[in-house]
Amino acid sequence: MKSLPILVVGGGISGITAAVEAAEVGAEVILVEKEPTLGGRVAQLRYYFPKLCPPTCGLEINYRRIKSNPKIKVYTLSEVIEISGEIGNYKVKIKTKPRYINDNCTACGECEKVCEGERVSDFDFGLKKTKAIYLPYPMAFPLKYVLDKEALAPGDLERIISACKYNAIEPDMKEQILEFEVSAIIWATGWKPYDASKLDILGYGKFSNVITNMQMERLASPWGPTGGQILRPSDKTFPKKVAFVQCAGSRDENHLPYCSYICCLASLKQSLYLAEKNQEAEALIFYIDIRTPGRYEKFLKRVQEEARIHFIKGKVAKIEEDPETKDLIVTAEDILSGKKIHERVNMVVLALGMQPSIAGINISGLKIDENGFVISDEGIIGCGCAKMPLDVMTSNETATGAALKAIQTILRR
Ligand code: SF4
Ligand code: SF4
Repeated sequence: MKSLPILVVGGGISGITAAVEAAEVGAEVILVEKEPTLGGRVAQLRYYFPKLCPPTCGLEINYRRIKSNPKIKVYTLSEVIEISGEIGNYKVKIKTKPRYINDNCTACGECEKVCEGERVSDFDFGLKKTKAIYLPYPMAFPLKYVLDKEALAPGDLERIISACKYNAIEPDMKEQILEFEVSAIIWATGWKPYDASKLDILGYGKFSNVITNMQMERLASPWGPTGGQILRPSDKTFPKKVAFVQCAGSRDENHLPYCSYICCLASLKQSLYLAEKNQEAEALIFYIDIRTPGRYEKFLKRVQEEARIHFIKGKVAKIEEDPETKDLIVTAEDILSGKKIHERVNMVVLALGMQPSIAGINISGLKIDENGFVISDEGIIGCGCAKMPLDVMTSNETATGAALKAIQTILRR
């Protein structure tokens, strides 16, 4: 297929799927990702639907498909800053931040051992620190370290350079602006959790044992801050009673006016993580409606049969902290009994809504709706959660559809 390449923006599961589907039928693909690694949100999960697989399942095979296909060029730490031109012939500008580590890196880890400076891990949503020189996660793609120069301690730079036998550390790397001509653009920049600190009454940021659902995924992950143990942040003990607060930010005109589609399923799944880790643990799920579309209804039934998982129909009105024990008191109106209830729990998990990751960012040439979701046109095609809240399976289907649309653009020229 002789033509300009297809640009895929976003290296999460949707962008990866679109890239390999397009490249495997002969299209040249440029895949850009703003983080230092591909994998997106799926890489941060303990398990994902529909089969409750660990992220290694879906990602490993896709990474192999990328590695073995010379038609895909991957640019990490890169963001699109401008799009001009028209269908069949777009001009895009991409800003690439320096990794400060070159392709000689073997991920041997010797530099990390001698580095003293630390940084907060955004991959772990602040639950852990990494060294200033770090591997984003064990399965990172590309499997190369990254240097956060700002986080280095005095003397670190000399220590890490002399620890690296491969001459892989280049502290003078510079930011670059790259320009490409492409035939079509697949926009797959995914989602970010809604900012929980905007939900005043729920205590996030004020009370240490109020966490988000993505933090819960990191706690349950064997690569996470606790090695897979679900421990509450204040004292690292196992929480015996955990409240899940549904629709935290979603379906609310003051925050996200839409249903975020996956957060009911996420809490059902996480209540099972808890029940399976400890025979004494109990989960209370405070909900308005439980939404488990299509085939997921069966999963809801399975969770409803668990004796230690309780469902309370009612919106949480307030969360307070007992300052001595750091337990939390959740106040809600139980709609079915008509009574106000006050439940003391050891930890609260907010089922945060999904916001497009580009919400609030203006990219010249890209159309978005009032919530920040991409509006597709013939040559710029949105897919996955950049387009609407979706689960992984449906995201992949939209990504395959987007690849087909982009290929049609090439064939019509
Ligand atoms: Fe090893 Fe050098 Fe890469 Fe550090 S930068 S992991 S020392 S090859
Ligand atoms: Fe609320 Fe469930 Fe929709 Fe999420 S999926 S917004 S928790 S109803």
